[in-house]
Amino acid sequence: MKITSVETFILHVPVTRQGIADSTHRLTHWGVPGVIIRTDESLSGFGYTGTHAHLATDRLITQFIDESYAPLLIGSDPLEVRSLWGKLLHHPPLQWVGRAGISHLALSAVDIALWDLKAKAAQVPLWKLLGGSGEKKIRAYNTDGGWLNWSVDQLVADAKTLVDSGYRGVKIKVGTGRVHEDLQRAHAVREAIGSGIDLMVDANGRWLFPDAFDFCRRAADLHLKWLEEPIWYDDVEGHSQLAARGGVPIALGEQLYTVDHFKQFLAAGAVDFVQPDAVRLAGITEWLLVADLAFAYRKPVVPHIGDMAQVHLHLAIAHPSCDLLEYIPWLKDCFEEPAAVSEGYFATPWQPGAGSTIRPLAFDRYRVG
Ligand code: MG
Repeated sequence: MKITSVETFILHVPVTRQGIADSTHRLTHWGVPGVIIRTDESLSGFGYTGTHAHLATDRLITQFIDESYAPLLIGSDPLEVRSLWGKLLHHPPLQWVGRAGISHLALSAVDIALWDLKAKAAQVPLWKLLGGSGEKKIRAYNTDGGWLNWSVDQLVADAKTLVDSGYRGVKIKVGTGRVHEDLQRAHAVREAIGSGIDLMVDANGRWLFPDAFDFCRRAADLHLKWLEEPIWYDDVEGHSQLAARGGVPIALGEQLYTVDHFKQFLAAGAVDFVQPDAVRLAGITEWLLVADLAFAYRKPVVPHIGDMAQVHLHLAIAHPSCDLLEYIPWLKDCFEEPAAVSEGYFATPWQPGAGSTIRPLAFDRYRVG
């Protein structure tokens, strides 16, 4: 099989209720810059990354694919995924300008498209290609009821609705700028959902160490499953101290671009729940390296879902370190087989591929580039 064409696209898809906010970002749309890799055997692979729908930077990603990766891909055998990944990652002029950021997001889209092709060629869902079992059920937790621009009443109402629909875990945002207000919001949700439901909080890297430590000290009776990204993303030492002294398990990984970066956090004891994202790392290939590394440290892997769980559902089924996965429904109209949750568990996807094949309707409705 040979690659015959590489076509890029950009979708901008509206998020929940006209816009959401965390401590660091405000969004009205989720960006889906992606790629369709076609072959001489009438199979096509779909891959994409996830962004904040900023058209200028989304175009940099697709331009990187068009002008830098596509010439290296045309004529190659797409089934040699890991070899191609290494070829693109280590191509000297590309490595010189980017070992993270735009080039990495672009490579993630390409790598996902190649794995999608490989699973389609084998006529199996990706989780099976990677050795997973259809018997394994992945628990879902929901983040889409916990935004920082929600009032306390809205937070509580959404949390109750989610629990009533079967979710056994919800995550809310913190980082209002006032620790006592963050604690009040979290307490309101804890009281509403009871003690038997997992509650997670996410500061999106907003706090300095003293506020993060203060929150941890005062959060003991919230019985949090984890505190996510309390301080600046690259601060290995600070996260290590919080993990050791704060009394709340630490989750992070959505802002880490490489397996080497994860290794630093794991080696320092700075992370308890490991959150690699295949669309921030250089695709599925690097995600698997991170998940295997976390396994060696006996740490659970709970992926961040810049892909909105389409691809990560396959990876979670396949990898022994995963049994819990985030769900946000923003892209549910976009895929041939959208990720779906019922009674708190993901439905197992059965279509051949990586779950990344986009419906024609989504191109009609959401394509901006
Ligand atoms: Mg997060």
